[in-house]
Amino acid sequence: MATTYDVIILGSGPAGLTSAIYTSRANLNVLLFEGMQPGGQLTITNDVENFPSHPDGIAGPVLMDEIKKQALKFGTTILTETIDSVDFSKRPFTVINQDGVSYTAKSIIVSTGATAKTLEIPSEKTYWGAGISSCATCDGFFYRNKDVIVVGAGDTAMEDSLYLANLAKSVTIVHRRQGFRASKIMIDRAKAHPKISFILDSVIEEYVGEIQNNVQSLIGVKLKNVLTGEITDKTIDGVFLAIGHTPNTNIFKGILDMNEEGYLITKDKSSYTNIEGVFACGDVQDPTYKQAISAAGSGCIAGIDAERWLGANN
Ligand code: NDP
Repeated sequence: MATTYDVIILGSGPAGLTSAIYTSRANLNVLLFEGMQPGGQLTITNDVENFPSHPDGIAGPVLMDEIKKQALKFGTTILTETIDSVDFSKRPFTVINQDGVSYTAKSIIVSTGATAKTLEIPSEKTYWGAGISSCATCDGFFYRNKDVIVVGAGDTAMEDSLYLANLAKSVTIVHRRQGFRASKIMIDRAKAHPKISFILDSVIEEYVGEIQNNVQSLIGVKLKNVLTGEITDKTIDGVFLAIGHTPNTNIFKGILDMNEEGYLITKDKSSYTNIEGVFACGDVQDPTYKQAISAAGSGCIAGIDAERWLGANN
């Protein structure tokens, strides 16, 4: 007979893996699904400078590898599979992978994270991977000595701009208003960088390209000033989008309570969702802080909540 796990964890970012450390270290039988992006968003991050215990910073993928090793050490089973649907209507709970294979567990921890947003201009699809990217650390290398735009004015945009400025000839931050969301230290660093400039109150209206070596490649953008409506052409080699994230909660629609943006709702300071025995942690339930350390902290909370709930309900 197939195993019914004590805990199934969906997602392998700092939240999911920390909940795996806590639950497997509590001697529970734990299965974790890594999903499409093992290690989560930190695997596409450069140096993480604000994770405690790494005074010199640590590369995102290295950090995730270390947390994963810790979860494996305590006995977590990790599968590189994606869960496509769930049945939380009865216990044990069931999750079904991309090939239709079912797994069951007495409790579930949802830590499916969030995905980078796009501008949703129709031509974005045409140039995706051929001039447009949402991952500076993955694709920045292709833009050495070239001119790039970064869209957005949050910490991601500043961090990406500073990273790209080490490679590219120039970085132009395009932002739709005057105010910035990023932390002051990041704004100051970007403003002080000689290769970084700003175009404010502006949005990308359209991408412009041409065929190069049989491939449709981006060569520029049409920028619209949102105050005057004026359109200007800008020649550019690459555009990096850093405009926030959407929580990965599609498979939980109609099952788990979520806010209007799709973030899962947890009760008070706990990881309890509206279904007893199903817990949520990390970016999937955090529209506010979205840090590796806060995700790891909420993974700890979910691990403890699941362990205590199982103790009381097993
Ligand atoms: P944010 O939500 O903070 O910023 C998104 C930016 O994109 C905003 O400037 C927003 O503009 C802009 N934007 C959103 N939608 C559009 C659109 N359709 N068109 C044009 N512009 C758009 O996202 P981040 O990913 O930057 O940061 C998320 C969280 O992660 C934050 O809490 C941040 O502090 C954290 N973070 C921390 C890091 C660190 O500590 N090392 C590194 C990276 C992120 P507007 O302001 O007008 O809404």
